Amino acid sequence: MSFDTMNLAPTILKAVNLCGYTSPTPIQEQAIPQAIAGKDLIASAQTGTGKTAAFVLPALQRLTVPSTAKGKGPRILVLTPTRELANQITEAVRTYGKFMRLRTGAILGGMPYFEQQRLLSQPVDIIVATPGRLIDHLESGRISMARVELLVLDEADRMLDMGFSEAVSTIAAATPEGRQTLLFTATWDGAMEKLAKRLMKDAVRIAVAGKKATLELIEQRLHTADDMQHKNRLLNHLIADSGMTRAIIFSSTKRNADQLARELASRGHSAEALHGDMTQGARNRTIMNMRRGKIRLLVATDVAARGLDVTGITHVINYDLPKNAEDYVHRIGRTGRAGASGIAISFVSFRELDELRRIERYIGQSLPQLVIAGLEPARPMQQGSGSRTGYNGRSTGGRGTAASAGRRPFSKAPSYRSDARPSTGRKPYSDSRSDARLSTDRKPYSDYRSDARPSTGRKPYSESSFAGKRDAKKSGWAGDARKTEAFRKARWS
Ligand code: AMP
Repeated sequence: MSFDTMNLAPTILKAVNLCGYTSPTPIQEQAIPQAIAGKDLIASAQTGTGKTAAFVLPALQRLTVPSTAKGKGPRILVLTPTRELANQITEAVRTYGKFMRLRTGAILGGMPYFEQQRLLSQPVDIIVATPGRLIDHLESGRISMARVELLVLDEADRMLDMGFSEAVSTIAAATPEGRQTLLFTATWDGAMEKLAKRLMKDAVRIAVAGKKATLELIEQRLHTADDMQHKNRLLNHLIADSGMTRAIIFSSTKRNADQLARELASRGHSAEALHGDMTQGARNRTIMNMRRGKIRLLVATDVAARGLDVTGITHVINYDLPKNAEDYVHRIGRTGRAGASGIAISFVSFRELDELRRIERYIGQSLPQLVIAGLEPARPMQQGSGSRTGYNGRSTGGRGTAASAGRRPFSKAPSYRSDARPSTGRKPYSDSRSDARLSTDRKPYSDYRSDARPSTGRKPYSESSFAGKRDAKKSGWAGDARKTEAFRKARWS
């Protein structure tokens, strides 16, 4: 199929051609015709599959016909979990709508209310919003939903995980009954089923190959680190590689991301931090500088980097392993984009063995362990094929293969499923479609972790500065003054 046969307006086709897209991606091929036909859609697709255009192009097509509804407010409303994703969608709307006269805007937390109020006081074509700020405007009567024809829920599972279920439902309930709804999600469970049932009618379901193809292009490596100083020495060694032209280094806390970026900058590297405590303007500037190649090393936290679309990332380094196995796949997916290959390097310390076990179980494979001469760990880690992961013969209770965890091994799963989210116990999309027992299908927490973090291990919207500080106090690293001090004093060579 080609874009030309999709009944898209010439203005839209012209913009798509200008992007250099020769053919639609699988999600676009399936979603665009259905969406243009006015169907409600549930689409299983990850970032990197071209899903943004899969909903933006039909949205623009809809706008080629003038609205009959009078009044203010948007015709198309896109809800998305994070500000970064919202900015990327807004950018995509500008790109694909380049030859159309559009009035669009974003309603995001962390931005001044004044401009948003001005935007909402007039008829608007497309609004891209994060649910938290939009609900503020809705509750204070500043936004009218009466003209909404199309509601898009992007990364709906993430919005639910971030606690936006009620906000999303309230917002949807405020839009006209006859609207069209497109829901994009990477995973499917009981909560999602309920949301979809509430919001959609006879939805067409689409599942496409997602990350597997991308992940296959990523070389994954693991380095055992004794402690933070050892991690720093490893990092120092790795970043000396001239083949590392653009890298993202993931840190578990905002404070450590800042600290690490400062340390790297003071050592002469073009390095900057990206995390949720930065103002939106600063975050945008940093991402832009990364895109322009002005930053070589970006030290980021998870939420800030989610959905980050920067091409040419040669390496992803997990300085700290993510608490969530799913975030591991999201992180390493920042490299190996658009058919390019990439390298993902993870450091694991003794205290991160649980995280490693979850990640390996999730992706259904052991990460190959590498040792750099002169930087060997004092306590090498045993990594058995399916039996144990532990330090130096010390049993950590059985790593468990993908099969023993009730998951299909990575290689046997349908390709999009390789990026599903066992850590939350969510079922991959296709497993769940005809299964009414979804909500009870969550794996008990103890299957996945032996420590005491709550349910999914996800922080509830922790990138908001307030929650972040609260969480930081609880979490081992940032809350412990001694460790923070140790970080500060960490030796680099
Ligand atoms: P997304 O999954 O929406 O984040 O898109 C990932 C990347 O794919 C973006 O950089 C898009 O510009 C690019 N992209 C989207 N559609 C196509 C296409 N049909 N052909 C080539 N690249 C595309």
